[in-house]
Amino acid sequence: MSAMSIEFPEVSLSDIERQAEKLIEAYEDSAGKRVRAPIPVESIAEHHLGYQIDITDEGLFADPNYLGGIVFDEQVIRVNASVEAHEGRYNFTIAHEIGHHVLHREHYLAHRDTDDPGIMCREVNAKPLVERQADQFASALLMPADLVRKAIESLPEVAMGKISVKALRVLASQVNKAGQFSNVSNTAMCNRLIALGYARGMDYQTGKSIDFLRSSDARGYSAIDRWLYKKLKSVLKFFR
Ligand SMILES: [Zn+2]
Repeated sequence: MSAMSIEFPEVSLSDIERQAEKLIEAYEDSAGKRVRAPIPVESIAEHHLGYQIDITDEGLFADPNYLGGIVFDEQVIRVNASVEAHEGRYNFTIAHEIGHHVLHREHYLAHRDTDDPGIMCREVNAKPLVERQADQFASALLMPADLVRKAIESLPEVAMGKISVKALRVLASQVNKAGQFSNVSNTAMCNRLIALGYARGMDYQTGKSIDFLRSSDARGYSAIDRWLYKKLKSVLKFFR
């Protein structure tokens, strides 16, 4: 039985927003200072949540399609070395893994089998609920709604609502600059603007990603890893 057979509960978007806000508040309390953009997700993961960030290109991460993973038992977040140079993707990956910690860790640890290899991965033809939730959390954490609103309000004149993809790209770039969201990609801000209702009538912009959750250390790649790796590589479609 793998982690995929665990059923995770639905979490509302507003609840995900609140949980991201709560995490920032808790970090502010422990750091003793207000947090502004760029949201320091690396520091939140390391200094507040106690995770070690391991940048690697070994094993599963030889494939750049694996952007990240989280190992709850070891308190390690693994990030593919291929994204290290991409500020936006690197920070979104860490924020996404923090999302798994906040939203899924407890449920996962309570429901896994003792002999569970602890691997959670993408399902064929669908982005699993937990991955969508972790993405939503990452967006809310890196781009808090009130900071996005303030950035938009500071712009002299902006096209919003039913706008073209090109106009959305321009708006995202303006918001990133005005709000100092320097660790956020243009695509991520586009999607945040859609999610918050500043842009309407278009699909979410996509890139690609894949990650997995493990309960045990991923240093020694087991047979099931290699099997998963082959299987995933051949069948999955990736987003982000
Ligand atoms: Zn994930």
